[in-house]
Amino acid sequence: TNKVKRIDTEVDRLRMRRKDTDTLKVTENVFDEPTLKTLYTLSSKGILKAMGGPISTGKEANVFLAEGEDRDIAVKIYRISSSTFNSMEDYILGDPRFRNVRHSKRDIIFAWTKKEQRNLIRAKEVGIRVPEPIVAERNVLVMEFLGENEKPYPQLKDIRLDKEVAREAYDTIIHYIDVLYKEANLVHGDLSEYNILVVPETNEPVFIDMGQSVTSEHPRSRDFLLRDIENIVRYFKKYGIDEDPHGLYSSIRDK
Ligand code: ATP
Ligand code: MN
Repeated sequence: TNKVKRIDTEVDRLRMRRKDTDTLKVTENVFDEPTLKTLYTLSSKGILKAMGGPISTGKEANVFLAEGEDRDIAVKIYRISSSTFNSMEDYILGDPRFRNVRHSKRDIIFAWTKKEQRNLIRAKEVGIRVPEPIVAERNVLVMEFLGENEKPYPQLKDIRLDKEVAREAYDTIIHYIDVLYKEANLVHGDLSEYNILVVPETNEPVFIDMGQSVTSEHPRSRDFLLRDIENIVRYFKKYGIDEDPHGLYSSIRDK
């Protein structure tokens, strides 16, 4: 169909555009045969109308802007070829929700994608602002695009807040960590100024990147919880916020 052709063309265009950069390899890696098939599937379901430009190239995944059914969407594609899947395995194996996952690399990555979707759903259910997940298909997670006029909201690390606003954002983030743990039984596990976006004007923090989030049953969930809190406390020091991460940790951990 036309839609499929359009995605093909878009993918080629992305490849071309990237040709002169070192990320060429990564960009080529991401659109392998099985991933293209998955994108076609999403396209034939009407979920994905056209691929847009790249938003980010990370260690394990690429994120693209895309045209969804009736709004812009973010498409996060976990690379099957060059994923750091050994560390993924550690997270999956400690999670009771994924007891029956087969241990091939592909299956771990598919489970990881589903895990991110489920984590986002759980977080959203307890009132935490996250991108609303739309669908997880194999190694592709489709979610709400957090941004305006095709421009993603900035990461916390890239903005400067007024002191009072910073305090509010900090309080919200600590509240989110607390609610996530106590009500959703989850620890983000990679929380920092990189994985929090900030909505302009309202300065509302949004948690993203929850693939590695674990339930409290995970053997390392407490370590991750403390590390998340330490990262946030460390980052907000520059706004004159001086709190003891261990005190916060105890009050959150003791449900
Ligand atoms: P990294 O390896 O760099 O941590 P990642 O591959 O784990 O990245 P994410 O952190 O989920 O992937 O996303 C990478 C970047 O893409 C984010 O920092 C953010 O700028 C952007 N991004 C992710 N999800 C969305 C979204 N739903 N809407 C808009 N931008 C997004
Ligand atoms: Mn990230």
